[in-house]
Amino acid sequence: MTRVIVLGGGYAGMASAARLAKLGHSVTLLEASGQLGGALVPVREEGFTWDASATSTLLPAVMRDLFRKSGRPAERELELVPMDVIREHRFADKTSVAVPGGTRGAQLAAFDGLGPGIGQQWTDYVARFSEDWEVLRKHYFEVPWEPSALPSAVAERFRSRETLHKRLRKTFKDERLRLVAGHPFVAAGQELRDVPAWAGLTAYLEQRFGGWRVEGGMGVVAEVLAARMTTRRVSVQTATRVEDIILRGGRAVAVSTTDGEIDLGVDGAVVVALDPRSLPALRPLVERTLPAIPPMTFHLGLASLPDHLLDLPDELVLHGEPTLVVRTRGIAPEGQHAWTVHSYGKLMEDVLLALARHKVDLREHVVHRVDLGAAELVRRWRGSPLGVKWEGRSTVFQRLGPRTPIPNVYAAGAHATPGSGLPFTGLSSALVAQSIGPSQR
Ligand SMILES: Cc1cc2nc3c(=O)[nH]c(=O)nc-3n(C[C@H](O)[C@H](O)[C@H](O)COP(=O)(O)OP(=O)(O)OC[C@H]3O[C@@H](n4cnc5c(N)ncnc54)[C@H](O)[C@@H]3O)c2cc1C
Repeated sequence: MTRVIVLGGGYAGMASAARLAKLGHSVTLLEASGQLGGALVPVREEGFTWDASATSTLLPAVMRDLFRKSGRPAERELELVPMDVIREHRFADKTSVAVPGGTRGAQLAAFDGLGPGIGQQWTDYVARFSEDWEVLRKHYFEVPWEPSALPSAVAERFRSRETLHKRLRKTFKDERLRLVAGHPFVAAGQELRDVPAWAGLTAYLEQRFGGWRVEGGMGVVAEVLAARMTTRRVSVQTATRVEDIILRGGRAVAVSTTDGEIDLGVDGAVVVALDPRSLPALRPLVERTLPAIPPMTFHLGLASLPDHLLDLPDELVLHGEPTLVVRTRGIAPEGQHAWTVHSYGKLMEDVLLALARHKVDLREHVVHRVDLGAAELVRRWRGSPLGVKWEGRSTVFQRLGPRTPIPNVYAAGAHATPGSGLPFTGLSSALVAQSIGPSQR
C-alpha cells in the first residue's frame, strides 16, 4: 500500500481521498477546520440551513462517477434532481428569461420570449462550444494533460487570444444575451476580459446536460462523502492545519502540520486540495496566480412571504449595479423560507433596499439574517473555493494540477481547475486518481 496524504477536506479533498483509497492506497486526509466539507458545509442558524456556496451542479455524471468508483452508487445515498429552470434572469428593461437546462429546443423557445430570432441567436452561440467540449474533454478535462505535449486542437484553443468578452461583443448585439452568457463567470469572480473564449463552454454544458440540485442541499454531499471516508478507511485528521510540504532531493518526503510532521514513507504522494499559494514549498510555483474572490453574501430567514415571491425559481439573477443573485432553496422551519443573496459589484445601500428596487421587497419579512463579506468568507474557508482568477490565456498553464513540477505532489480542487464549480473540481480529483493510479503493493 502506498501512503497518500491529502491536504484539505473540501469536496475535492474528500473526492480524491475516496478514489485513492478505493485504488488500494493508505490515505490520510488533513483538514484544518473541525469538520469535513469545506465550502459545502452549510450555514445553520435559528432553525434555518443555507448552502454556503454551491447550490447546484452541472455534469451530474461526474458526481455519479465519483460515488460509483469509490463504493456505493450515488443513487443509494443522495437524490440528484434535474432543475426545470437553471436560473431566471431579469434585466433593467423589465424583460426576463427563465433558462431551462438539458435541451436545445427548450432554450430556443425560452429565449424567443425575449424577441423574434433571439432563440436562434442563443442556440447558435451555444452550438459553437460543442466542438470545444469534445476536444477538451478528450485531451484536458478527462485525462491528465501534459502541457508540453498538447494535441494541436487543444494548443490552438489554449493559445487563442480571443476572450469571452470579445466573443460576446462580436456575437450578440442584444446586451441581454451578453449578460446571460457572461453571468456564470461574473458569479465565479471573473472579469470577462480575462476569460478565454473557450471557457464559455459551460453554456453548452448547461444546455446539454442541465443543472442538478441535491435533495436536502449540498451539505448532504459533504455528509455522504464524510461517511465514505469511514467506509473507505481513510484516516481523517480534522483540526490539523497543514503548514508546508517538506521536500528533499526534489521530492516530497513529509507534510508538516500543527500536530507535527507526517512522513510519506517510500513511494508516498501528496494531493494538495487547498490553495497551493498557502504552502511555502509550492508558493514559488504559483506566484503568478491570484484567487477569484467570492461575493458579499446574505443568508436570510424569511416569514410570511407574499404569494408573488413564493414561486420564484431556485436562482434569480437581478441584473443591475450591483447584480444580485437570489437563491431560494435553503431549508427553513414550516411556513418560513431560507434564501441566500449574493451581490456582484459595489453595494452602496442595504441589500434589502437594493432588492426592493427590483420589486423583491423582503423588508417586512426578515426574521433572521447572516451577512458575510468576502474577506470573512475567505477567512472561514481558508482560501477561495472559486479557485484561480483568469488573467488571460496563459492562466491555464500557471495553475497546478493534476501533476505538479514535484513528481510525487499532485493538485486537485478549485485551484487546479479551469472552471470553479463542482463538476470541474470533481473532475480534478478523478485526474489525480488517474495520475497516481492503483497501489502497486
Ligand atoms: C458563493 C459561491 C457560490 C458557488 N456556487 C456554486 C454552484 O452553484 N455550483 C457549483 O458547482 N459550484 C459553486 N461554487 C463553487 C464550489 O463551492 C467549489 O467549486 C467547491 O466547493 C470547491 O471545493 P474544494 O474542495 O476545491 O475547496 P474548499 O471547499 O474550499 O475546500 C478546501 C478545504 O481545505 C481546507 N484547508 C485550507 N487550508 C488548509 C490548511 N492549511 N490545512 C488543512 N486544511 C486546509 C479548508 O478548511 C477546506 O475545508 C460556489 C462557490 C462560491 C464561493
